[in-house]
Amino acid sequence: MTGCLFCKIRDGEIPAEIIYKDEDMIAFKDIHPKAPVHFLVIPQRHIANLFEVNADDEGLLGRIQLTIPTIAREQGLDSGFRTVLNTGPGGHQEVYHMHYHVLGGGPFTGFN
Ligand code: 5GP
Ligand code: ZN
Repeated sequence: MTGCLFCKIRDGEIPAEIIYKDEDMIAFKDIHPKAPVHFLVIPQRHIANLFEVNADDEGLLGRIQLTIPTIAREQGLDSGFRTVLNTGPGGHQEVYHMHYHVLGGGPFTGFN
């Protein structure tokens, strides 16, 4: 989608520290980490948020959630992690390309 920050990261137009990529998703470090480890997992295809998904996305959502623990372990989060998915203004979503936050590795700061 034109003008979408995370589509630009996906396309390499804006740099990011990418830690995982496959045909369905990309994971990269959050630019303002709110925990010692804080990364975002986005679908490759532009989807604004959970209000925009439909039954065709069931497999995609499942594959993302099945992959997050593997990425988390690779990032050292063996004891666990927090997963957050903000949807819309009511969920304090700032970037309208759906993303799972994955946080862990110590105290969280300034996360609302
Ligand atoms: P939201 O509030 O939409 O759930 O979270 C957006 C997240 O994207 C925030 O945690 C913010 O720090 C992160 N973010 C915003 N701009 C950039 C950027 O240009 N690069 C990266 N890597 N993360 C970003
Ligand atoms: Zn996008």
